[in-house]
Amino acid sequence: MAFVDGVPARREELKTLQEVRRRSELLVSLGSCSSFGGVPAAQHFHDLSDLKKYVYKGMEDLHSLEIFPISNYVRVDFQLRGCPASKWEILETLTALIAGRVPQLKSYPQCVDCKIRENRCLLLDGLPCLGPITRAGCGVVCPSAGVPCDGCRGPTEEPNLTSAVKLLSRGTTYPDLIRKFQKYCSLVPEYQELFDKWKW
Ligand code: SF4
Ligand code: SF4
Repeated sequence: MAFVDGVPARREELKTLQEVRRRSELLVSLGSCSSFGGVPAAQHFHDLSDLKKYVYKGMEDLHSLEIFPISNYVRVDFQLRGCPASKWEILETLTALIAGRVPQLKSYPQCVDCKIRENRCLLLDGLPCLGPITRAGCGVVCPSAGVPCDGCRGPTEEPNLTSAVKLLSRGTTYPDLIRKFQKYCSLVPEYQELFDKWKW
């Protein structure tokens, strides 16, 4: 069994990934980058020359493959999302796979766990929290510390995007809200319609 973190940004890394797949009975993507692109995939919405100029100053010879989740290159048996991946999910996945059963991972929104913890909802204070459309499983750590969820675990099953955008637009500007969605999820299929409507 292999756990793969990150995404291939160089040809050698792509070859390593393919070799790991060849040698492994089960392959698990560990974290949001390997599962659905994560932060590095934001390159799809930026000009590479701008990134070199403002983010990687002094590294003009920087080369990177186009960033895609590892499922773009190899078969992935299980996904462990999150930035970082949740320790409970790693433990559950390991014990389940060793025991020969399917891991039981949460697919409902963060707000459910937030309510169970009796947190005050940050939306009431006008803060743009992506909890209603983000998959639970991290222990709702950010809202529990008073910080809005940035959606690092990607979307829940069938997110109600229309309602979420309407609700979240109250606490921020529309361009900032789109950037928030794109921080981790620029390649997530569920959000592409939203991004298509907003061209920078
Ligand atoms: S703070 Fe965020 S995660 Fe918690 S209930 Fe409100 S919207 Fe949902
Ligand atoms: S609360 Fe949201 S941003 Fe924070 S770790 Fe969990 S999914 Fe990620």
